[in-house]
Amino acid sequence: MDNKSYNPFLSAQKQFDKAADLLELNNAARDFLRNPMREFNFTIPIRTDDGSKKIFKAFRIQHNDARGPAKGGIRFHPMETVDTVRALAMWMTWKTAVVDIPLGGGKGGVICDPHNLSLYEQEQVCRGWIRQIVKNIGPNSDIPAPDVMTNPQHMLWMLDEYETITGGRYPGTITGKPLGMGGSQGRTEATGYGIIIALREALKELNIKPENTIAGVQGFGNVAQYAIELYNKMGGKVICVSSWDNKDQKSYAFRKKEGVDLKELIEITDSFGGIDKEKAENLAYEVLDGDKWIEQEVDILIPAAMENQITEENFNNIHPKVKIIVEGANGPTTPEADKQLNKKDILIVPDFLANAGGVICSYFEQVQNNMNYYWTKDEVLSKLDMKMTNAYVSVSDFAKQNKMTLKNAAYVISVDRVARASQNRGWI
Ligand code: GLU
Repeated sequence: MDNKSYNPFLSAQKQFDKAADLLELNNAARDFLRNPMREFNFTIPIRTDDGSKKIFKAFRIQHNDARGPAKGGIRFHPMETVDTVRALAMWMTWKTAVVDIPLGGGKGGVICDPHNLSLYEQEQVCRGWIRQIVKNIGPNSDIPAPDVMTNPQHMLWMLDEYETITGGRYPGTITGKPLGMGGSQGRTEATGYGIIIALREALKELNIKPENTIAGVQGFGNVAQYAIELYNKMGGKVICVSSWDNKDQKSYAFRKKEGVDLKELIEITDSFGGIDKEKAENLAYEVLDGDKWIEQEVDILIPAAMENQITEENFNNIHPKVKIIVEGANGPTTPEADKQLNKKDILIVPDFLANAGGVICSYFEQVQNNMNYYWTKDEVLSKLDMKMTNAYVSVSDFAKQNKMTLKNAAYVISVDRVARASQNRGWI
């Protein structure tokens, strides 16, 4: 969240308004869908390791649950704002709708920096979050999951607190749990892999072989790492990745013209996706300013970090060779930049389609929890591939038929599904 001049919720509403116009939605439908159905604002007190008390601000926002229980991750971030969580909750609604899984959209957040919290302090934040929201979440109402700077261990602490308070075992309350504790095979890989499945389909349409492509990636967290893994397997070469340096409080881009080595980079990366600058230099990476990721001479750009990264100010720095942008992060491109990129004839695979692999696998996790029977990794990943491919092809077909961008097509399909569900329930 380097870029503070954009309000992601206003961007999200602007994008929604465009879809509402195309669908000619009535005023009630617009008023209803452009705002969250429910918002929870609360504080979490913890006792720090030095014995003092510390209070954190936290949120859970349920944008829409017409098609099923609200679903979406919880972020830990020092710059979290209520409007960011609102936008992310709305995007979750469109995400579950566009891939057609029976879930709605929600998002949570805690304003905190886990870099500066011990494990015990993080556990208290997780348990405290559940204590404040326990009455308003559950396997049939709202199901949290991991997101930026949260992980399977955080999810397990949250589930344990939920189950302790409610007095039962309800693994479907939270997804993204560790394997063996109700988690699903493939969940950790799912978002990154899903991005590359969407990219594979986009390349197919453009008649380009993945092995003839080069990519640049923004971010080196869980999503980026697994995206690079699958992209490399398909023969693609990543020449630049950027990552946030917590010590310097800025990001750096790491470039190796012959292709970055995923394994060696992971070895010098912390659990939040921060690459060690000195060690990277020793491994012969060129260390550049963080925003240089966007200027690289590549065919594909994959922003997989935070929102508002491709903006009116920097879209012109994108190299003329770039043909595809696959939005791995949520909301990485501002609506204004989006408009300009479409003029440049760059194919944008929209975020809530491209990064839906995570929530698809969360849905599979819930299904397995409900059956109390667990699939193999191959089974999960082939189901993931099928769901992602079907969603991509439907959006792309719709875009071609209606002569619109993939983003507009994805919006129209998903807003229509959610509006119909809300209408059928008699809400609008
Ligand atoms: N946080 C992920 C997302 O933005 C996954 C959400 C989920 O699994 O519920 O899609």
